[in-house]
Amino acid sequence: MEGILIIISGFSGAGKGTIVKHLLEDEQYALSISATTRKPRAGEYEGQHYYFIDETEFKTMIKHDELIEYASYVGNYYGTPKNYVLEQLAEGLDVILEIEMQGALQVKKQFPDALLVFITAPTAYEIKERLIKRGTESLELITKRLEKSLTEINAIDDYDYILVNDGLEETVTHLHGIIDSEHERVKRNKDLKDRLKKEFIELLKGE
Ligand code: 5GP
Repeated sequence: MEGILIIISGFSGAGKGTIVKHLLEDEQYALSISATTRKPRAGEYEGQHYYFIDETEFKTMIKHDELIEYASYVGNYYGTPKNYVLEQLAEGLDVILEIEMQGALQVKKQFPDALLVFITAPTAYEIKERLIKRGTESLELITKRLEKSLTEINAIDDYDYILVNDGLEETVTHLHGIIDSEHERVKRNKDLKDRLKKEFIELLKGE
C-alpha cells in the first residue's frame, strides 16, 4: 500500500520541529528535506535540516519542475524536492513534509489524499516566549514571524486536524494515533475490500 503524505504546519515557535524529530523515531516515516535560500542557523547542517542553496539554484529547481511546491516565507524561499517524496510514498512509507501554509495548500491540490495537521502552542504568548527562548532570531524577526502567524490564522480551516502542543510526549502519541487512524480509512483500503469480496465469491462457489 502507498504511504500517506503528511503535512505538518504550525506557527513558528509551536514546537513542530521537535515533535517531528520524535515522530521519526518510528520506522514507518520518512522526512522530506526541503531546499531553502535561508542561511543555516547555528547547529543546522546541509542535507540534514535543509539543502541550503542560493536564489539562482532555487529558481533553476522551479524551472526544471523539481519541486512539488514552494513558497516565500519571511524573505526566503522554501521548497519540497519532488523525487524523494514520490519514491518514499511508493515504498509504502509515510512521508512527512514540515512546511508552511501556502505550500501546504499547493500540495493538497496535487495530493487530495494528503493528511494536513496543524500544530500550535496553547497560547500566542507561549509562542512568543518560545521564539525568544530559542534565541536564534532578532526581536525584529520574531515580530515578523508573529505577524505572519496572524495573517495565517484563517488558513487553518483547510487543515484536517489541529493539535495543541502542551507536552511533547502526549502530542507525539496523539499525532501517531491520528496517522494510524488515517491508515484505516476505507478509501485507503480498497485492496482489502476487493480481496474480501473475492474471498466471499470463492467461498460461496464451494458451498
Ligand atoms: P524556518 O526558517 O523556521 O526553518 O522555516 C520557516 C517556515 O518555512 C516554517 O514554517 C517551515 O515549516 C517552512 N518550510 C520549511 N520547508 C518548507 C518547504 O519546503 N516548503 C514550504 N512551503 N515551507 C517550508
